[in-house]
Amino acid sequence: MHDEAGLWLSYRGALGLTERIEAPPPPPNPCASCRDKPCLSACPVDAFAGATYDVAGCKADLDRPGNDCMARGCAVRRACPVGREHGRREAQSAFHMRAFR
Ligand code: SF4
Ligand code: SF4
Repeated sequence: MHDEAGLWLSYRGALGLTERIEAPPPPPNPCASCRDKPCLSACPVDAFAGATYDVAGCKADLDRPGNDCMARGCAVRRACPVGREHGRREAQSAFHMRAFR
């Protein structure tokens, strides 16, 4: 969760360092002051209801004809009010959803 880009930021890698480095303190977490938390009810299959991400449940729903996430991107990401200006074009989201599925 990014304080400015919300759920529109993700990392696919990490760096391992041999020494400890000083980093600035993290900014306040927007989730702490998010009253309604629409992300928690946006997924049609409650893929985030458990302790881990239910990938199989998510992908099973993506096969459903007319699935909204396939056309516009993950509904959970789109539900978060933080960082909406960093959202993707729907065609770009659809491209990545096809690759993910
Ligand atoms: S909607 Fe966004 S800000 Fe609110 S709890 Fe969910 S991820 Fe956090
Ligand atoms: S892509 Fe759709 S089904 Fe999968 S986690 Fe996101 S909201 Fe749920």
